[in-house]
Amino acid sequence: MSRNLELFERGKQVIPGGVNSPVRAFGQVGGTPRFVKRAEGAYFWDADDKPYLDYVGSWGPAILGHAHPEVVKAVQDAAVGGLSFGAPTEGEVEIAEEICKLLPSVEQVRLVSSGTEATMTAIRLARGFTGRDLIVKFEGCYHGHSDSLLVKAGSGLLTFGNPSSGGVPADCTKHTLVLQYNDVQQLADTFKELGDQIAGVILEPIAGNMNLIKPSAEFVQALRALTEQYGAVLIYDEVMTGFRVALGCAQGLHGITPDLTTLGKVVGGGMPLAAFGGRADIMGRIAPLGNVYQAGTLSGNPLSVAAGLATLRLIQQPGFHDTLGRRSARLAAGLADAARDAGIAMSTDSVGGMFGFYFSDTVPASYAEATRCDITRFKAFFHAMLDEGVYLAPSAYEAGFISIAHTDELVEQTISAARRALSRV
Ligand code: PMP
Repeated sequence: MSRNLELFERGKQVIPGGVNSPVRAFGQVGGTPRFVKRAEGAYFWDADDKPYLDYVGSWGPAILGHAHPEVVKAVQDAAVGGLSFGAPTEGEVEIAEEICKLLPSVEQVRLVSSGTEATMTAIRLARGFTGRDLIVKFEGCYHGHSDSLLVKAGSGLLTFGNPSSGGVPADCTKHTLVLQYNDVQQLADTFKELGDQIAGVILEPIAGNMNLIKPSAEFVQALRALTEQYGAVLIYDEVMTGFRVALGCAQGLHGITPDLTTLGKVVGGGMPLAAFGGRADIMGRIAPLGNVYQAGTLSGNPLSVAAGLATLRLIQQPGFHDTLGRRSARLAAGLADAARDAGIAMSTDSVGGMFGFYFSDTVPASYAEATRCDITRFKAFFHAMLDEGVYLAPSAYEAGFISIAHTDELVEQTISAARRALSRV
């Protein structure tokens, strides 16, 4: 029996679904999750010691490839000096300075341990700062699992959300409006009707949780203009895009200055670390300076900070994001060519170290369009690629991630594998 299957069966006895985060269970694609034994560079090895070329990269953090020696060394050195203190350290000041240097919109920043905490607190802060309750989010954008954000669109045009998870009282989501991504008219109508009650708007500035979906320039400009006009806080949730799509993040690509930004994944270099930051007048409302409460026993953990600092330094090497962007663009183009040659409807897109492929004729612009792709074909392709030793996200609604360890040669190998896989699906 495969050792992956053995571990999965054993795990299911003591861990719900055998996994510690739902997508890992292969629910959408079926089959046995690969249990990772170790990882290095662009590869991980499963419990049967089979290598996979990894295009998930821990869902984003592994931008340098796995177990980069300088990051590992930084964590080892930090560990020797103690694992956690619950008191401030020099490293926390350093990483905050580094984040503020790289993101002009961030004047002050606070560290937390997960993206969920970062977005949850950014929302609390937007509400505390404005004295308003309403939050706008977009269907298909994921911002972690805090109650008020676990919401799906209702049935009306301007819809207040319904909980998308059991255990979330409708009262917790009744202040969350769910709009359509890239719908400028609906956004404008919403602000016209409710603008003076809206505390903030949160979005994935390049969406990666409904596959990869880019916003139009008009959409991001309207977001900035309307939030400014109505005094609402614009929150760029860059947990996924931060330092991945560009050194200046999505906001740099858009030429937009948000009021608050949330970060995670890359900023922690693979360790549990995330952050929220932005305008000093807004950040000044957080405890101990202001009355908006937030805290964390492991916030600013020295090992996480060491991994984050080492990662942020390495990604600032000249040409880093150009190389990453060129390779994911080549991968996207190669996948599209392979599909065309196989006579299969597939479109692809990429930005920086993120890519998307869609089993449909056109690149989607919204959640509704993203969910119109051919899931059956996706499943078959996913498993055919797995057989080829290529590990893609086990869900049709997730973006793909490449690392700097994915060399030109590995990208070409992946495209060849996709040609073989597509001829079988
Ligand atoms: N925001 C975005 C855009 C994300 O992609 C994620 C996680 N994939 C989160 C927030 C939540 O982060 P975490 O899983 O660290 O809580």
